[in-house]
Amino acid sequence: MQVELLGARVDGIRLEQAVERVAGFVGSRQSCWIITLNPELLYRAWSERDLLNLINRADLVTADGVGIVWACRMAGRPVPERVTGIDLMLRLSARAAKEGWRVFLLGAAPGVAGEAASRLKRLYPGLVVAGTHHGYFSPAEEPSVVELVRQARPDLLFVALGAPKQEYWIARNRAALGAAVAVGVGGSFDVVAGRIRRAPFWIQRLRLEWLFRLLKEPARWRRMLVLPLFAWLVLKKYKLRI
Ligand code: UDP
Repeated sequence: MQVELLGARVDGIRLEQAVERVAGFVGSRQSCWIITLNPELLYRAWSERDLLNLINRADLVTADGVGIVWACRMAGRPVPERVTGIDLMLRLSARAAKEGWRVFLLGAAPGVAGEAASRLKRLYPGLVVAGTHHGYFSPAEEPSVVELVRQARPDLLFVALGAPKQEYWIARNRAALGAAVAVGVGGSFDVVAGRIRRAPFWIQRLRLEWLFRLLKEPARWRRMLVLPLFAWLVLKKYKLRI
């Protein structure tokens, strides 16, 4: 089921269904591009038409976080659950280990992608890591990074350059990347590598992961100012209808 939220397409699917969908793409050697859509990205796309068009070109757009799940409910188009970048990355890595899919980790500060890959291999024995590369390369270096990924022939490519940089990067390069399933996963490598701690499950259950992140990374406050603006936009459009 697909719903429309502030002009963007959102797929109303559960995490397990998303994993099955990816399995279908890998099995048929088709390329696929997944966006995990959070309120910051959607708010930006609301006033940046190119970004909105780009989101609507992806093959799968998941509701990343309680903000999007709430907004879909306000719009009268509920989605079943949130499907975050990190949860998707972990579940897909587990499946990759079982199926023998090759994974590539692109992004984050030098060293982090390698650490995240080692942690994933410990969590999911048998996982084949086709390669890793940090996310601080210049535009001039981009072709050689793309070539590195292409030659590694990954089935799954996790891209952690932050949104919307990773979305633009995937859109630009997906044709050159072969059949890989590309997923933008934001800051997930830092969490998997243990550089940033994720909120305990009880905080996630209370839907307060955003608050935990703010307290852990106070520098995010400026970015988080977008959240009330996003909430206001949603209420205005779908409840007050102004
Ligand atoms: N990053 C990167 N290259 C850049 C800018 C950012 O690899 O040019 C990485 C950064 O190191 C971090 C991730 O992208 O690991 C962004 O994390 P953040 O939590 O800000 O992303 P979000 O999940 O909010 O999109």
